[in-house]
Amino acid sequence: MRTVNEIKNIYIEKDLENSLIANNIRERASAEHKISYIDDPKELLSHFRQHGERESKENLLLYSNKGDFFSSCPGTDGMVCCQYFVLNLGQGCLYDCHYCYLQGHLNNSLLSIFGNFEDLFAKIAEHTKNKNIHFRIGTGEYADSLALEPLTGQSTALVNYFSHHPNATLELKTKSSNVEELLDLDHRNNTVVSWSLNPKAIIDLVEEGTASLPERLAAAKKVVEAGYKIGFHLDPLIYFKK
Ligand code: SF4
Repeated sequence: MRTVNEIKNIYIEKDLENSLIANNIRERASAEHKISYIDDPKELLSHFRQHGERESKENLLLYSNKGDFFSSCPGTDGMVCCQYFVLNLGQGCLYDCHYCYLQGHLNNSLLSIFGNFEDLFAKIAEHTKNKNIHFRIGTGEYADSLALEPLTGQSTALVNYFSHHPNATLELKTKSSNVEELLDLDHRNNTVVSWSLNPKAIIDLVEEGTASLPERLAAAKKVVEAGYKIGFHLDPLIYFKK
């Protein structure tokens, strides 16, 4: 499985220098990670759009999301909506599943994550507080929920936040085995950790960089023992001959 050691350069927007996620990154980064502070994330995004190597996973940007963090799951035409909501924590994935829409959707090779979590928490509260429905909110839409967790602590911060929101369940979706950071958290049953599964032959062939099937199952066992609910997604289903 690819790890955060693939990342060589970490760029942090200066305005977020003292943020929770920037502190996490400084604490967790190794000597091989070069951290720089930048004034203008747009300039860096534009540079990587024009000059970045398409396949590279070496560059990570932490910056502020000025748009909305929260959206309704787009759903599928003709199907009944299940009221799932998506939290956008950044764009770009450490892994390279051949079928992933991100491969064609993203226009630069920079892994980018959002660090203005105070704004994020305010948005979640705005959407969920004093509403008489149970929200299901997932983060695995534009990136893997746990691939960068050993470096960023984004999901740890969310699990802690959702533990105080009884009318919402957080879903973390992953193809990694990065669960160590989650095991000792007081999650209060408000987080589901889920894995997308496929047969070994498909994982080996088209899910580049992800955890193997036994690694995913071993990680799932650990989070069950830590009291989390888990989920498995059989998605996508790919026909193959044995
Ligand atoms: S792990 Fe998920 S987000 Fe990452 S490349 Fe695979 S399908 Fe896309």
